[in-house]
Amino acid sequence: APLPAATDLYSLDTLLSDEERMVRDTVRKFVRERVMPVIGEHFEAGTFPRELIPEMAELGLLGMHLDGYGCAGLSAVCYGLACQELEAGDSGIRSFVSVQGSLAMFPIFAFGSEEQKQRWLPAMAKGEVIGCFGLTEPDIGSDAGNMRTTARRDGSSYVLNGNKMWITNGGIADVAVVWARTEDGVRGFLVERGTPGFTTSNIHRKLSLRASVTSELHFEDCRVPAENMLPNIRGMRGPLSCLNEARFGIAWGAVGAARACYEVALDYAKTREQFQQPIARFQLVQQKLVTMATELVKAQLLALQLGRLKDQGMLHPVQISVAKRNNVREALHAAREARSILGANGITLEYPIIRHMNNLESVFTYEGTDDIHTLIIGQAITGESAFS
Ligand code: FAD
Repeated sequence: APLPAATDLYSLDTLLSDEERMVRDTVRKFVRERVMPVIGEHFEAGTFPRELIPEMAELGLLGMHLDGYGCAGLSAVCYGLACQELEAGDSGIRSFVSVQGSLAMFPIFAFGSEEQKQRWLPAMAKGEVIGCFGLTEPDIGSDAGNMRTTARRDGSSYVLNGNKMWITNGGIADVAVVWARTEDGVRGFLVERGTPGFTTSNIHRKLSLRASVTSELHFEDCRVPAENMLPNIRGMRGPLSCLNEARFGIAWGAVGAARACYEVALDYAKTREQFQQPIARFQLVQQKLVTMATELVKAQLLALQLGRLKDQGMLHPVQISVAKRNNVREALHAAREARSILGANGITLEYPIIRHMNNLESVFTYEGTDDIHTLIIGQAITGESAFS
């Protein structure tokens, strides 16, 4: 058989259905035509391309894997492929879609009342209402179960106090899904922008995910009606099941960033000449490209089987940890190697590589750090917890 393209060495394309390929190609086209021309400037300016929200909604990317309430109801593999293409553009764009669909819409879909679903989901699928997910706090990151934010019952309302930190979309969100400690455990609350006692402030001076809004949420005697609590979930299983949804998309997304870096580096190596020959002729450069190409195939296979298991209802969260940890790790490594192949050109925004490389530092840390996923997998295979 003929050797497939250098970007699909294992003919993984043949493992996808027609519908899956169509979704992938549609999102790929959107990224090429609408994201790539503007993303470098947004990254440099530290702004999120809000103008793309209606188009992403039109493509069915918001709450894509949810059924009903105006959502596209596509398979997990389709959702993964979309994440992969979006992150080949920029991790910030994929983060927006992950947060909207997996962290804000999913908890309403899975744990909300019928009224909450009717009220929020169709508008969120249309991109008319933006959501965010507040779990992390200034002093509480990996150990989220120890959160300080409280919600105290007072008559027919709850009163929230505390601060959430590093919240993607926080400053542009119309509704925040906020996790807080109540007297009967951790509960989720829908807090609308403009509620007295609720303010946000954006985090500046980031050198990673610059084309994404990251904010703090402040709650000072913020009173919300008791009907704003998500009725059907209590305890850390709530936020953790949202994180599982988002981590699934990240395991796929990181592969897109890695592919983008590999493609640029391969192209550059074939045309850049030093010592009177293309640098692609040097063994050391080939070694880097070969490692990237091989890890790309492996990461894609992990993501695809992860998606198939999810679609079959056979997925275990530990399997998500395996794929998130491996794929983000390898994507970061590929980005750094690609950066080196471009030499000095690799450090500018003329090429997408250093943008991906810096973005992936956040992706390595958020949604469970690399270390935390190591401990999750370690506990699963040894039966011993090394968390504390
Ligand atoms: P810490 O938990 O303080 O960890 C610091 C270091 O210690 C890490 O290397 C970690 O791996 C290590 N460590 C911690 N515990 C252990 C242990 N038991 N064993 C070994 N090593 C350990 N959060 C949200 O709720 N919503 C969002 O939308 C959101 N968006 C984000 C966007 C960006 C750009 C970033 C950077 C973060 C975002 N986060 C969000 C927060 C993110 O989830 C946290 O940063 C993450 O959980 C890690 O927490 P931390 O940064 O406080 O690090």
